[in-house]
Amino acid sequence: SFPIVFSTHTPKSYYHSLFLSTSLADNASVAHNLYMLTRRPHVAGTEANAETADYVLTTLTSHNINSHIVSYDVALTYPDSRSLTLTPKPGHPPVAFDLRQEIYAGDPYADVASQVMPTFHGFAKSGDVTAPVTYANYGGVEDFTTLKEMGVNVSGTIVLARYGKVFRGDIVHNAYTAGAVGTIIYSDRKDYGGGGKDAGWFPEAKWLPPTGAQMGNVYTEAGDPTTPGWPSNEGCERRDYEEVERLGIVPSIPSLPVSGADGETIMKSIGGKVADEDWQGSDDAPTYRVGPGPGVLNLNYKAKKTIATIHNVIGMIEGSEEPDRYVILGNHRDAWTFGAVDPNSGTATLLEVVQRLEKLQKKGWKPRRTIIFCSWDAEEYGLIGSTEWVEDNRELLASRAVAYLNVDIAVSGDEYSASATPQLDELLKQAAKQVQDPDNSSQTVYDSWASASSSSPSVKLQEGDFEGLKGLHAKTTALTCLATVQIERLGGGGSDFAAFVQHIGVASLEVTYGGAYPVYHSMYDDFVWMEKFGDPMFRRHIAVASIWGYLALQLADKEILPFNYQSYAEELQRNAEELEDQISNQITVTPLLTSIDALSKAAAKINNEIKGIEETIGWASIVKADVTRVREINDRLMMAERAFLDREGLSGRPWYKHMIYAPAKHNVYGTKYFPGIDDAIEQAKRLNTEESWKVVQHEVWRVSRAINQVTKVLSGEL
Ligand code: GLU
Ligand code: CA
Ligand code: ZN
Ligand code: ZN
Repeated sequence: SFPIVFSTHTPKSYYHSLFLSTSLADNASVAHNLYMLTRRPHVAGTEANAETADYVLTTLTSHNINSHIVSYDVALTYPDSRSLTLTPKPGHPPVAFDLRQEIYAGDPYADVASQVMPTFHGFAKSGDVTAPVTYANYGGVEDFTTLKEMGVNVSGTIVLARYGKVFRGDIVHNAYTAGAVGTIIYSDRKDYGGGGKDAGWFPEAKWLPPTGAQMGNVYTEAGDPTTPGWPSNEGCERRDYEEVERLGIVPSIPSLPVSGADGETIMKSIGGKVADEDWQGSDDAPTYRVGPGPGVLNLNYKAKKTIATIHNVIGMIEGSEEPDRYVILGNHRDAWTFGAVDPNSGTATLLEVVQRLEKLQKKGWKPRRTIIFCSWDAEEYGLIGSTEWVEDNRELLASRAVAYLNVDIAVSGDEYSASATPQLDELLKQAAKQVQDPDNSSQTVYDSWASASSSSPSVKLQEGDFEGLKGLHAKTTALTCLATVQIERLGGGGSDFAAFVQHIGVASLEVTYGGAYPVYHSMYDDFVWMEKFGDPMFRRHIAVASIWGYLALQLADKEILPFNYQSYAEELQRNAEELEDQISNQITVTPLLTSIDALSKAAAKINNEIKGIEETIGWASIVKADVTRVREINDRLMMAERAFLDREGLSGRPWYKHMIYAPAKHNVYGTKYFPGIDDAIEQAKRLNTEESWKVVQHEVWRVSRAINQVTKVLSGEL
C-alpha cells in the first residue's frame, strides 16, 4: 500500500540548511527596512500607516510574493483635547501639566516629532473629572484589595497607578470597579528609569527620559468593539459606539498616561497612610502614600471617535503538494510612535525571511504547503487587524490552517524566549538548536536559552525587572519547565496570536529576543534606540529570522507535521495536579485526570504511527509514503487543536473558546490555564456558596469533555 515514487527533486533538507546559512543572511537589508518603516510615527488608521502598508506590499512583491491588501473599517479613537491640572493642597494654585515628551538636542527625528500623537489611551472615555487622588501601586486586583484593607476609600477619587505588571486596560477597569472616577497611569523611574537618578536616560542610556510616557489601548477584549464576532467589512452591521460604552466593553471612566516626572509630582501631593515597602519607588524618591488627597486632580479628556480604514498586507507562496494547507507567519505593523522595537523589528525580520525564501525559490525550492505572510494593522488598539481577518475567514482557516507563527517585537534585548501551544514544544527546541547565538558564536540559541531558563524565573521576574514591562510577571503563572528550556504558554500577552489560538484553535507560537525595553510605546522607540541599545549589529534580528523561517519551513515541508501531543498531555497533567492542590475536596478532578490519561495514550499511538511511516520513508528521502495515509495523519494532528474549543466559549467571555488557555480575567498580560475553572474558583472563593462550588465542578467537566474530543480527533477512532 505504499506506492514508491522516485523524486527528481533536491531534498528539502538541503534548502533548509541553505536557509540557515550565513551567506543568505542580510543584516544591512534588515537595518534598511527598519529605517524605512520607522521614519515617522504610524498609528493605525493614519495616512502614514497606509504608507507603511504600501512599503510592505511593494517589498513582498519585489521578492516574488503574490500579495494584496485587505482593508477593514474599524472603530478607533484619537486624542481630540486633553488637560491635567493638580491642586496640591487646598488653597494652593493649580498647576497644569505640560504632558509633552521632550525632544533632546540633536534628535534626528526632531522635525517629525510633531507628528507623534499627544499622549493618550486608545479607547479611553471622554470626560471632565475633578477629584482627590489615591495611589494604587500597579493597579492589580490585589492592590485594590490592599487599599480596602488599609481602609482607603477609592470611591469618587482619581486613581494614580504605575505601569508594569498589569495590562493598562485592566488597571482602568479595576479602578472603575473600586469606584474611581478617573485613572492616571505613569512610568515609575524605579521600573523605567534604571532605578534612580544616576542611571541616565535616552539617548545616553537606554532608560526612559523623565518626560517619556507610555501610550497604549485600554480596551480589554480583542477585535473591533463595534463588530464582536463578525468581520468589519465595509458597510457591515455595526453596534453603536455609545452602546459599546454603555455595555462597558470600552472603559467607563477617563484615563491618561503620564511621564515619570509628572507621576512623581502627583505622588508628592498624596497624603494619608504610608504605602507598603513594595509599593515604594526608587531609594531617592519621596515616600509614597495612599491618600485620598489632599492633592486634587482635574482630568479633562476628549476623544475623537472614528471609523477608520485599516490595512492588513497578505502575501503567499503557494504550496506545490498541499496548497490547501496553510502555515501562517504574522507580525503587526502599526505603532504608537515610530515603532522601531514594537513592532517593526518584527516587520523587518519578516521581510528578511521573505528575502531568503526568494533565494531558495530561485534555486528550485517550492514549499509542500502554502506559506502565508501577514502584516497586521491596528494591533495596538486591541489586536484588531488580525482578529477581523480571522473572523472574516473563520471557517476556511479552521479547516486549513496548520499553524500560526507570531513575532510582535523581534528584538528589544538579548534574552531569547518562546511561547507556544505545547504540541510545538519539540519543534521550538529543535529550531533553537539550529541557530547560532547572536551574542556568543561558540554556542547555539538553545544553549543560552537553556542557561537563562535554569535561573529561577519566579525570582528573576519579580522585582521591577524589565520583563515585568509587558506584564511577563503575571505570565510566570503559566511558565513551564521543560527539560532545560522554558516555554511560555499563549494565553495572555496581548498579541495577534489571540484570534488564532483562542477563537479558532490553531496551533501557534511566538518567539522574541526580549529584555529591558523602557521606551516601550513612547516617543523614544525609534531607530536610534534600536541601533544603540536594542541590536547594534542587527544580529539578533538575523537570529529571529533564522528561527522563524526554519519553523515555517519545517511546518510547510515535512511530510508529517512536526507536532507532538505527548508534550501537551504532560503539560495538562502538570496543570491538573496544580489544580488539585488549589481546590477543596468537595470537587473531584477525576474526570479531568481520566481525560488527560486517554489523551496521553492517543498521543503515544499517533506518535507510533508516525514512526512507522517515517521508517518507510526515512531510509531514503526519495521514497514517498502513501499520500492519503499521510494526509489522514496530518489532518488528525492539525484538527486536534481545534477540539480544545468549546462552541459556547468561556462563561461571560464567549469569544474566547479555548478551554485550556486564555488571558487572565483581570490582566490581559497574564496567561491562565483552565481559565473557565479558574474564573469559577475565583467566584466560588468570593461567594462561598454550595451553588458556586457546583459551577467549579461543572467547569472541570467542560474541560474534560473538550480533552475527550481532542483524544477522538487525534486517535481517529469513533
Ligand atoms: N500589545 C498591545 C498592548 O500591550 C495590545 C494588547 C491588547 O490589546 O491585548 O497594548
Ligand atoms: Ca469583528
Ligand atoms: Zn506590538
Ligand atoms: Zn505595542
